[in-house]
Amino acid sequence: MDIRIGNGYDVHALAEGLPLWLGGIQIESPIGCIAHSDGDVAIHALCDALLGALALGDIGKHFPDTSDEFAGIDSKILLARVMELINAEGWHVINADITIAMQRPKLAPYIIPMRECLSEIMEISPARVSVKATTTEKLGFVGRSEGCEVYAVVLLGREDDLIFG
Ligand code: MG
Repeated sequence: MDIRIGNGYDVHALAEGLPLWLGGIQIESPIGCIAHSDGDVAIHALCDALLGALALGDIGKHFPDTSDEFAGIDSKILLARVMELINAEGWHVINADITIAMQRPKLAPYIIPMRECLSEIMEISPARVSVKATTTEKLGFVGRSEGCEVYAVVLLGREDDLIFG
């Protein structure tokens, strides 16, 4: 089997009174991401990891934040579109690992729902989708709750006999 690794990174600024979406799940929170889309920074990092694995550019290239088409868009739709690109070339996700750095609110109650949501869109078992949350011990912009930062790594696989160029 041919395999490819990809990594993704994204940051969004946080502000009071905005909805907070992470990993496809709405989180109960007094602060949310400032964004052109729904601001799901975890899905954005995951999309960049998937695109990066196949050297297909980045999320900004595929879904420009200057386009009205993507204003307020549910990031789950962006992930589904990225998966179409991946699948069209015969690739599937072997596993994904996502780390969300956020000082507050506590994300522990949402980890399993996020894993279930993302794995459903990527059509793999939740056991293959890791979501982890960390604070930065009140250090830096994450620690001051000025922003939310996400790192994602994915591994893709394709059977050797599938030659699409
Ligand atoms: Mg983003």
